[in-house]
Amino acid sequence: MNFDFYYMCVFCQIIKKQINSEIVYEDEKMMVIKDINPKAPVHLLLFPKRHIESLVTLRLKDRLLIEGLIWKAKSLAEEQGFASNGYKLVLNCGQGAGQVVPHLHLHLLSGADFSKWPV
Ligand code: AMP
Ligand code: ZN
Repeated sequence: MNFDFYYMCVFCQIIKKQINSEIVYEDEKMMVIKDINPKAPVHLLLFPKRHIESLVTLRLKDRLLIEGLIWKAKSLAEEQGFASNGYKLVLNCGQGAGQVVPHLHLHLLSGADFSKWPV
C-alpha cells in the first residue's frame, strides 16, 4: 500500500510539526496557534492533540476536552491582557456551520468591532 497519499488533517500536521505555525501554547493534550488568516487583531485557535473531528462527533467520555479548551482560552485572555476588553469564542460545529478544518477547534477572537458580527 502506498501511504504517500495518506490524508492527515492540517491541524494534525501542525501538531506533528510537519507544517509550521505560530505556536502560542502547547502541552501534552492541547495546542494553541495563531490563525493564519486572522478575522480580528487577536485570533487564536485552540485544539486537542487527539484528532476529534467535531463537537458533532464528540463522545460523552471526551467532554472534558471542551472544558480544557475553554479554560485555556480564559487563561490566555487574562495573561495576554485582553480579557477586560472582551473576547469572543467561536466553535463551528460541522460543515453546515462553516467548519472547514475537520479537527475540533475553538476560535478565540478579540480586538475587533464585534458590534457588526451577527451574534
Ligand atoms: P473553521 O472554519 O472553524 O474550520 O476554521 C478553520 C480556521 O483554521 C480558519 O480560520 C483558517 O484561517 C485556519 N487555518 C487553516 N489552516 C491554517 C494553518 N495552516 N495555520 C493556522 N491557521 C489555519
Ligand atoms: Zn486532525
